[in-house]
Amino acid sequence: MTINKIIFGKYKCLYLFDFKWFRLFGIIFGCLIMQNVCAGNPTWGFWAHQRINRLAVFTLPIEMQPFFKKHIEYLTENAVNPDKRRYAVVGEAPRHYIDAEAYGDSALYRLPLFWNDAVAQYTEDTLALNGIVPWAIQQYKYQLTEAFRERNTRRILRVAADLGHYIADANVPLHTTRNYNGQLTGQEGIHAFWESRLPELFAEEYDMFTGAATYEEKTARRAWQAVRGANAALDSVLRFERELTARFKPEQKYALEDRNGTLLKTYSREFSQRYHQMLAAQVERQMRASVKMVGDFWMTCWIDAGQPDLTTTTDLTEIQKKEDESEKQNWLKRLLKVRTENEN
Ligand SMILES: [Zn+2]
Repeated sequence: MTINKIIFGKYKCLYLFDFKWFRLFGIIFGCLIMQNVCAGNPTWGFWAHQRINRLAVFTLPIEMQPFFKKHIEYLTENAVNPDKRRYAVVGEAPRHYIDAEAYGDSALYRLPLFWNDAVAQYTEDTLALNGIVPWAIQQYKYQLTEAFRERNTRRILRVAADLGHYIADANVPLHTTRNYNGQLTGQEGIHAFWESRLPELFAEEYDMFTGAATYEEKTARRAWQAVRGANAALDSVLRFERELTARFKPEQKYALEDRNGTLLKTYSREFSQRYHQMLAAQVERQMRASVKMVGDFWMTCWIDAGQPDLTTTTDLTEIQKKEDESEKQNWLKRLLKVRTENEN
């Protein structure tokens, strides 16, 4: 193995580690994150998932705000749980994507809106094989509504954090294709480039103002709209990278960057900048769409549950917090062989 290969291999594992959030809290969560990231990179990057859940809190109506603000750190930190348990929990991996081309032309407009119809038509195994994110969003929407009905703080928080994750994944173009990491078109690495490297470099400049959350009457349709919108952006994601690569020498396309004392191969700043410009705010749009959709879904679940009073809900107990922590540790111990999050 050459040094370059070692570096590139590590780059895939390590480069998310350099986000500002991690710089700030890296010491506290360093070990946990390192183990997790090495098990496979998260979708949207840790930073973006956490940012999306966090910002969604501020879109909520006044009746929901005290509860959600009180637990904003939980919702932020746990926005990445689905990625952490991806390798430990059977059935988790397919919730993060859908391979549109597995079902032929215009699949995202033809596939059954609802899970039961889809199972009847394709079987559960086939659906799991090709990813189920639009249906997972609906399942979690139902669960969150139930949690609000019960006014069960722990359940509300856990499901709301998860739902935010799946919604954000559904808005990522490379989560809607078999060519999830450009591996079928000689563009390996594009997944983390789009959803981690670009936000890392440019998200500071993004306008993430979405306005107030609105009630979504047709949540199933909205989930499908999200994957359709993401899939419509896929052509530019791949084409612009290919066009730009043809104009760059390999030594200009990639650069070595110092990451926590290690030199890692990554897309150069110039290449990233040009690509980001060509995408014309696409990453920003998809991120903002995620925030709006997460807020809309959280609020819709609460309204569908009869707008329960959240001011009298109980806090998480110390025992529950400890259970959550040990659950996360267990995810790290079990590793399943599934499609890696870095790749999809
Ligand atoms: Zn994910």
